Amino acid sequence: MAKGRVEISPESCKSCSYCVMSCPKKVLAIGDEVNSKGYPFVVAKNPDDCIGCAMCGNICPESAIEVWRG
Ligand code: SF4
Ligand code: SF4
Repeated sequence: MAKGRVEISPESCKSCSYCVMSCPKKVLAIGDEVNSKGYPFVVAKNPDDCIGCAMCGNICPESAIEVWRG
């Protein structure tokens, strides 16, 4: 059971990977699809491992990630 949950806004993502590198649980990855600006956006590939620490949301320069706990 996941302790946290992330919501990613594909259109806001610039594919910088900061969130992928910051996640201690390796939840996030750059996905295979691209947004309307041509950036491959981040997806939660291991959502069940999320602990809701918010490292990803805090580091994202585009505010593309919302984190929910519980
Ligand atoms: S909230 Fe923490 S564990 Fe969950 S995806 Fe973001 S960095 Fe990873
Ligand atoms: S930090 Fe934000 S902009 Fe960068 S890859 Fe992650 S979601 Fe996309």
